[in-house]
Amino acid sequence: MSDVKKCSACGAVMQFAQKLPFRIRGTPGMWKLLLGEWAELGEEMLSLDVYVCVNCGEVRFFTDEKARQYLLKTTPKEFLKKCFNCGKQIPIASEECPYCRARQQ
Ligand SMILES: [Zn+2]
Ligand SMILES: [Zn+2]
Repeated sequence: MSDVKKCSACGAVMQFAQKLPFRIRGTPGMWKLLLGEWAELGEEMLSLDVYVCVNCGEVRFFTDEKARQYLLKTTPKEFLKKCFNCGKQIPIASEECPYCRARQQ
């Protein structure tokens, strides 16, 4: 598959570790990560794919299109980090700052 994720730190192939499901409940921004807990039916589920680099231990999160759209609209604080270059808040999984294009480490 063309689905191979490469580690941005060392270039090794990253291994799929697990899916992190989370559900959206109530008003946007009020959802939370449900670690190891399956959501009830009827609520909208999104998931993050967690990949781990077996070489250096780098952990990365990947989203599908639906989760990406949702996160871009209502990213909670835990999913944000600061761009080391321009200081803007960007999604934690970003490899590149969407504002200044600086590569994140
Ligand atoms: Zn690595
Ligand atoms: Zn930046």
